[in-house]
Amino acid sequence: MINLEVWKSLQQSFTPKGVTLIAVSKTKPASDIQDLYNAGQRDFGENYVQELVEKQAILPSDINWHFIGHLQSNKVKYIAPFVHLIHAVDNAKLLNEINKQALKNNRIIDVLLQYYIADEETKFGMDKAEIKELVSNKVALTNVRICGLMGMATNTDDLNKVRSEFARLHAFLLELKANYFANNPEFNKCSMGMSGDYELAIAEGSNMVRIGSLLFGNRVYPA
Ligand SMILES: *Cc1c(COP(=O)(O)O)cnc(C)c1O
Repeated sequence: MINLEVWKSLQQSFTPKGVTLIAVSKTKPASDIQDLYNAGQRDFGENYVQELVEKQAILPSDINWHFIGHLQSNKVKYIAPFVHLIHAVDNAKLLNEINKQALKNNRIIDVLLQYYIADEETKFGMDKAEIKELVSNKVALTNVRICGLMGMATNTDDLNKVRSEFARLHAFLLELKANYFANNPEFNKCSMGMSGDYELAIAEGSNMVRIGSLLFGNRVYPA
């Protein structure tokens, strides 16, 4: 089941602001994706490699597939032929493997670096020093384009905390842009905000929100 009314109102509010809506379809059937595609949605986000590969094979070829989950280096090869944007790059080994697989597929693959902004042990990502080290060594990456940052805020009712985490991510994006990507116009993507916090994220500079349950309903994970 998809919520078309919610989708329409989100698209209407995001389009004039230049915010890309990524419909996060993990665990949801391909038929839900097709329904939202028929309404006009083109950007979809998935978290699991096998699930993404299966869906990609049977759904329209002009879908922009965003890989938003934690990605293991040994699985990059399965999504490298078609993935549109990899959001959660959190180490140099993974970045090098994406470059290698992009080269094999004769593609340039766009990626975001995951910046750790939350207060939770469970979330992946890099700190400022790790990201700076990684972007200082980016010259060797011929087939990867670093297009910005992605992050997830702490899961809390404390809106001030969430807001300040988003603000921190956006400020770091601007700092990196000035110091490492001044001549890279593609370095402008700020992927933050989900169903519960996208408004705060946009207020703090997000231009890419990843929304699942608002569009597709709550997820039920297999036991
Ligand atoms: C599942 C997921 C989302 C979507 O979450 P909702 O709360 O359902 O909108 C967004 N980003 C990431 C990284 C996710 O794993």
